[in-house]
Amino acid sequence: MSRQRTWQLEQIKQGRCARCGKKRKHYAQYCDRCRARIRGHQRRKLGYQPWHKGGRGQPPRAPLKVYKRRAKSLSVEHADKAALNQGGNVTND
Ligand SMILES: [Zn+2]
Repeated sequence: MSRQRTWQLEQIKQGRCARCGKKRKHYAQYCDRCRARIRGHQRRKLGYQPWHKGGRGQPPRAPLKVYKRRAKSLSVEHADKAALNQGGNVTND
């Protein structure tokens, strides 16, 4: 077993998050924040859909909270491109 896996199992045994080491509240391996991060990754990468009443799967154990991602320079470039596209659309119309 790797050193990383040994550390992860030790954190889980102590009631801590296997990724960041903070105290867990609702989930078996990860804290709420890390679980939300992984959920977001699965939605983007694997196309998983959020839970809704009457749909498939278990309801989320933790109250749903949106963790905002840190703003990056990429988002600014994206906003600039969006503005350019809107300008282009106006001239075309
Ligand atoms: Zn965590």
